[in-house]
Amino acid sequence: MIQLRRLSLPVLALGLALPAAYGQIALTVDTTHSPEKILHVREAIPVHPGPVTLYYPKWIPGEHAPDGPVTALSGLHFFADGKEIPWERDLLDVFTFHVDVPAGVTKLDAAYDYIESEGFSASDKLLVLEWNEVALYPAGTPSAQLTYDATLVLPEGWKFGTSLPVDREEGNRVVFKPISFELLVDSPVIEGQYYRVVDLTPPGEPIHHELDLAADSEAALAITPAVQQGLTNVVAESGVLFGARHYRDYHFLLALSDHVAHFGLEHHESNDSRLPERALISPGAGFVVGSLLPHEFVHSWNGKFRRPADLTTPDFEKPMETDMLWGYEGLTDYLGPMLAARSGLWTPEEYREYLASIAASLGPGRPGRTWRPLVDTATGEPAGGPGGGVRGWMSWRRGVDYYDEGDLVWLEAATIIHQVTRGQKSIDDFCHLFHGGANNGPEVKTYTFDQLVADLNQVAPYDWAHFLHERLDSKSPDAPTGGIENGGWKMSWSAEPIHLPGRRGNAGDTYSIGLQLGEEGNVVDSIVGGPAYNAGITSAMKVIGVNGRLYNHELLEDAIKAAQDSTRPITLLYVTDDYLRTATLDYHGGPRYPHLTRDDSKADYLDELIKARAGK
Ligand SMILES: [Zn+2]
Repeated sequence: MIQLRRLSLPVLALGLALPAAYGQIALTVDTTHSPEKILHVREAIPVHPGPVTLYYPKWIPGEHAPDGPVTALSGLHFFADGKEIPWERDLLDVFTFHVDVPAGVTKLDAAYDYIESEGFSASDKLLVLEWNEVALYPAGTPSAQLTYDATLVLPEGWKFGTSLPVDREEGNRVVFKPISFELLVDSPVIEGQYYRVVDLTPPGEPIHHELDLAADSEAALAITPAVQQGLTNVVAESGVLFGARHYRDYHFLLALSDHVAHFGLEHHESNDSRLPERALISPGAGFVVGSLLPHEFVHSWNGKFRRPADLTTPDFEKPMETDMLWGYEGLTDYLGPMLAARSGLWTPEEYREYLASIAASLGPGRPGRTWRPLVDTATGEPAGGPGGGVRGWMSWRRGVDYYDEGDLVWLEAATIIHQVTRGQKSIDDFCHLFHGGANNGPEVKTYTFDQLVADLNQVAPYDWAHFLHERLDSKSPDAPTGGIENGGWKMSWSAEPIHLPGRRGNAGDTYSIGLQLGEEGNVVDSIVGGPAYNAGITSAMKVIGVNGRLYNHELLEDAIKAAQDSTRPITLLYVTDDYLRTATLDYHGGPRYPHLTRDDSKADYLDELIKARAGK
């Protein structure tokens, strides 16, 4: 990997006070044709005559990978004083463009289009605009020191939400206040025909929080009072957990559509979250919303404000080093569900079932653990994250385990803080120390492994470096369940299915015959060394028959139950490429689902950690 020059300043301004190191860049994004999936962009960049290098953003914060969608940039033309001038792409970096600016020219005009990928950010009725997708920037100046005058043109009648300060609105044109390129990229806009703002500011909270909803239908905007209250509680609980905020105001941007990708992306003053159209009005809405929004919100403190030094880069071209993602994402993945439970979006039982499901999906019997330590799932992220090429085989390759396993490791850390200090200190004290401090608006305070360990030690003296290295470097086949056990619970298995909306945590058969199947019987994963794998079924094949009948999930569950009291094997008919094959599974262990059961020899500290604290 390329060794970067580390940024030496511990706190980095993100350009709130604008140092005019470079003339202001005017960027106009016309989204009036977003329903047709094409955005038209004009950009005017102050230049000096001679060679000029422009970058299209490559390493996207929060995505931890060089996955800027450069292939969607099209129709690119440059003009100087109204005359077109040629451009060339760099031979070694497809994100870099070179132009030669003629003598006497002080402004370079760029015109280009951005094609919205099918099913990603744009539906017929809404758009989530991430500015890195539609902006070029000049090389040589840190992104925090580039100033952009951004203008957005909306389709007629659409409304918008963003944390970007607005200068003025002229009809369907929105002119934003001048802002650094770093913060512009950090401040997406949600816009749509069906749009609603929901205030989430808890009573007595001085900083404004809101939910900006855009959906594919008016009906989908009808958030229930319970979910609205739950999210307001998340805001209140975050104030108690961290004791500080690091933003001017906060916008939860939530797109509700079956025609966009479903994920969340964090920012300092907002998050870009995307769920199915009916997510807010379906049963289990609290669980679904609690699975996403608290995580992305926690990132404002953990990931955006406190960020591993080697993930903090001066622009979007320099590579990131991702080995500390177990801190950036792992701690967030622990605190997000904890806030979901403290806020009431999740019930205590849902929280425990969630922990059981992730612990079960990480081991025992997950063979990838024996060759690939947790830290390598973080270090290898730029190649093998959500955009990685190979499908399936997760039990052998391992995936982004620094999220779920990070959750378990940080839960264990929380219980160790409790034990070492004999209940005098908690994870909340660590968050106050690590994520606290004055609110100067969005800023970055970087940290290293040693600084993280020092802060943990300040809260609870312990050999934290040894603990973390042991968890990060382990090649044990077993998941780290010490936090669950210290918390007064233990892993158990029964025929009772997991009680979570949407069967989160994999279909139950994963834990019995070792198959995770999609709706139609397609093999999402086959546990390497498991009964189905040993019978010949691997990822990306498709199960089409169970014991002589056409496959459906209930039939498979019946077959697993029936085999428990029989010596007859389970036979599965499956398709590989276009060949039909039969697998014979000599499995008689019955259905197995993971749960947590109470260990009465210990106090229930797990429950204590998820009790509401705000207003107490
Ligand atoms: Zn995250």
